Amino acid sequence: MQDQKAYQKLVESLNQYSYQYYVLDNPTISDPQYDALYQQLLRIEDEHPEWILSESPSQRVGDQPLKEFQTVRHAVAMYSLDNAFEDDELKTFLKRIEEKLPEVNKLTFSAEPKMDGLAINIRYENGQLVQATTRGDGQVGEDVTHNIRPIHSVPLKLFGNNWPEVVEVRGEVFMSKSAFTQLNQQQQEAGGKIFANPRNAAAGSLRQLDSKIAAKRHLSFYLYGWGELSEDWQLPQYYSEMIDQMVEWGLPANPQSEIISGLEGMFAYYEKIQAKRPDLSYEIDGIVYKLNEIKLQQQLGFTARAPRWAIARKFPAEEVWTKLLDIEVQVGRTGAITPVARLEPVSVGGVIVSNATLHNMDEIKRKDVRIGDAVIVRRAGDVIPEVVGPVLAQRPEKTQLFEMPQQCPECGSDVVKELDKAAFRCTGGLVCPAQRKRALHHFVSRKAMDIQGLGDKLIDQLVDQGWVKHPDDFYHLTVEQLATLERMAEKSAQNVVSGIQASLETTLAKFIYSLGIPEVGEVTAKNLANHFKSLEAIQQAEFEELITLNDVGGVVAEHIVNFFKEPHNESVIQGLLDAGMHWPTPAAATLVEDSPFANKVMVLTGTLSEMSRPEAKALLEAQGAKITGSVSAKTDYVVAGEKAGSKLTKAKALGVAVLTESEWLAMMPQQD
Ligand code: NAD
Repeated sequence: MQDQKAYQKLVESLNQYSYQYYVLDNPTISDPQYDALYQQLLRIEDEHPEWILSESPSQRVGDQPLKEFQTVRHAVAMYSLDNAFEDDELKTFLKRIEEKLPEVNKLTFSAEPKMDGLAINIRYENGQLVQATTRGDGQVGEDVTHNIRPIHSVPLKLFGNNWPEVVEVRGEVFMSKSAFTQLNQQQQEAGGKIFANPRNAAAGSLRQLDSKIAAKRHLSFYLYGWGELSEDWQLPQYYSEMIDQMVEWGLPANPQSEIISGLEGMFAYYEKIQAKRPDLSYEIDGIVYKLNEIKLQQQLGFTARAPRWAIARKFPAEEVWTKLLDIEVQVGRTGAITPVARLEPVSVGGVIVSNATLHNMDEIKRKDVRIGDAVIVRRAGDVIPEVVGPVLAQRPEKTQLFEMPQQCPECGSDVVKELDKAAFRCTGGLVCPAQRKRALHHFVSRKAMDIQGLGDKLIDQLVDQGWVKHPDDFYHLTVEQLATLERMAEKSAQNVVSGIQASLETTLAKFIYSLGIPEVGEVTAKNLANHFKSLEAIQQAEFEELITLNDVGGVVAEHIVNFFKEPHNESVIQGLLDAGMHWPTPAAATLVEDSPFANKVMVLTGTLSEMSRPEAKALLEAQGAKITGSVSAKTDYVVAGEKAGSKLTKAKALGVAVLTESEWLAMMPQQD
């Protein structure tokens, strides 16, 4: 950009953004976007120093103070910091200092976390806190004394007695991560403003006219500098010594600060703090390096907005704004359908991100995310990037609402919404390529078709070869075909084929279970077989009848109906029957009244080895038992698995009958 008009326009927009950010605590673009524009401005000003406007953000700090507060002119100006986004910029910073101070042979720096809050100046006269002011535009700030006084870590009277008559302590007011979360929860419940980050929240809290509000918000403070000091006060040689002095007067400083030297020292400290970052109780957005010797700081001085002896090395941003180009859906191994945001690629936490999860349809609606929106994308540590929400201030005129597709993009089967849940699911469990390997692994597993010699690895190989897509394809495999696979001897191929053929003789319950209908476990499959007696009857079962079964609720019933309604699944079932799958008609079910557990009050405790606790519960409920959560004198039986604890002790104390898992199973009526 070479033209001066464009430069002036850039200054104007940056000033508008700053006003929104500093004065109204309501940013309209993201920090990385602002930083990129600001860097662009610096480059132009470097090339054309003759264009520089006095109102350019490079010539000043922050923005003007809010009118609602009394304004205070700082006795000593408050500055911002220059930023470094790359290691190279640190190198340049160091080189520049070395050139300016050629006589010094070893430069040491104070390295400190860059707290993500806002700068404050706290003035003490004769040891008493008399005034606290925000940075404002660096020259004039706002009087927020009433909101600083309630901060517990800020002493109202300095400790000891060796302080100068006037001392201004400078540092950062910030909100801890936990206080921030708590505040936003309260705001949400009360329908109040949700703060974008702890810095915003701290700024918003400090600028409350009513001190009771700020007092409730648990602000914290760390010192990192000073302003006016009485003339007779002798500064020590090092910045860090002066910080220690103020700590002795009762003010808190960040315990993570260290004295380091050289680029190596800077890099090592950066790595160390970055690794600690997730465990710190407050947000930081980088590291600040400050030349430690005060005389050298004075020699270097300040630019219009920042000291020449300090620099902030920023961490890559973990939360950025970008454009939501489209929303597509992804089908998981279980058939669950997740909406995924396709984004204009953007660097988040140092990694380029072009896809992010939107979790589910309810989240999209709740956050009102639309295709075409500017969205906030977050990635913290190893967590999958997610869309936090839209930036409403930047919503373009034309956006598009997302609609869940009615057919699975992988297999064309119907997509249904799960009852009472936010999740959508593909119903083509037996045919969907996304669910294929999982469905096949399940089909051959021990409690399903129990096919010997057909392990998960071999199945994956068969799928990758394109030989098996659906379970019925197993029954068309030949010994010759299998023997061509790597590391498959003819004998093993023969065994696999025999295993497959042997599975054709099965039970209806196993067959139903092997289909992998969502939430239909072994017990439900048995109940279905016993109740309906034939496959046709189960295929045609209606929701109303299904929910009369003991362990079948609305969600399970709906899964069953949807599964059998899907024509793709139907054709695989037909394929299995054509291959010769058969079973005897189930014997009449044991009457519930005959069960030793009918109408008994029972408690399950400890870890069971044969099945999960919910399965055991379903099995017992099918026998007419009532399962409760705690042992009392009314309990008939306690089934105690491994590591049973207090419930077992109580049962023994009350004389309640206790059964081990195997004792209980031995008492169960046979139902196949
Ligand atoms: P800054 O936050 O980049 O750095 C200076 C500040 O760092 C100091 O004033 C002080 O408050 C703080 N700080 C924290 N720890 C410190 C330590 N140990 N020692 C010294 N200072 C420490 O500067 P800034 O001028 O307050 O703000 C600039 C930032 O604000 C930019 O990064 C920019 O992204 C953002 N901004 C955003 C928008 C927007 O619209 N999104 C607009 C303007 C500015």
